[in-house]
Amino acid sequence: MPSPDLPPLREVIARHGLSASKALGQNFLFDEHLLDRIAALPGDLTDRPVLEVGPGPGGLTRALLRAGARVTAVEMDPRCLPALVELEDAFPGRLRVIQGDALKLDHGELMGGEPFAVLSNLPYNVGTALFVRWLGGEAWPPAWTSLTLMFQQEVAQRIAARPGTSAYGRLAVLAQWRAQAKLAMKVHRSAFTPPPKVMSAIVHVEPGTMPEGVSARMLERLTEAAFGQRRKMLRQSLKGVPGAVAALEQLGIDSQRRAETLTVDEFTQLARALT
Ligand code: SAM
Repeated sequence: MPSPDLPPLREVIARHGLSASKALGQNFLFDEHLLDRIAALPGDLTDRPVLEVGPGPGGLTRALLRAGARVTAVEMDPRCLPALVELEDAFPGRLRVIQGDALKLDHGELMGGEPFAVLSNLPYNVGTALFVRWLGGEAWPPAWTSLTLMFQQEVAQRIAARPGTSAYGRLAVLAQWRAQAKLAMKVHRSAFTPPPKVMSAIVHVEPGTMPEGVSARMLERLTEAAFGQRRKMLRQSLKGVPGAVAALEQLGIDSQRRAETLTVDEFTQLARALT
């Protein structure tokens, strides 16, 4: 599909007076080549519904529209709306802009019950809260078909971490027990305007199969307890979860081990035994 000629993003920002707000965690991406690479991470988006959270002036939004997606973009900052309306006009019927706080919206309802890909470059605190929410809940597969999200590099490494590493923890287990999570692309801080203090990376997650007989709530409870005291042996850190220490023994998992040595599968087995 041919893309309309659009003014450079920097010009749009200057025209609409969109100085980056620190309070809203605004660090914008302008490099169209980089943005096209990010939009390509979920695979072919032609005619697919995409939820973009935090489009800002619309750099990633443009790339998603160029890739043929049908985009619903949720932006909290009303200053960005005129720039986004210009994009709505440039791609008629392909972009819907909603002003609001993504943390307060029901995304499945917003997307009309259709499976959707999520792409987002969010402030890190909002990104982590949404990520945990998208990965949670008993219903699986989720309404989303993939999550492609920018994080602080250190957080991205924690999400994709393997057991036995210092990055491995609660986020890794929650991201990997019924989904595949990988660190898809590192993004240098200099790619952003203004540049943040730390490096960033994009995580790509796709849902996998739900292990049978496991409650997500129980798995969350176990990881919270186990990694809440990650230096302690499991028999100590899991004391507060009724039945957990006995279940370790039943499963042949040494209770002297620490949380960070348990594989995602072992956490799942433990949660199943307690569900
Ligand atoms: N996507 C743009 C880019 O890559 O250049 C902007 C990225 S900027 C890091 C994050 C954007 O998320 C900002 O425009 C900010 O206003 C918006 N935002 C922050 N919190 C939000 C929330 N809770 N709901 C929706 N948008 C939010």
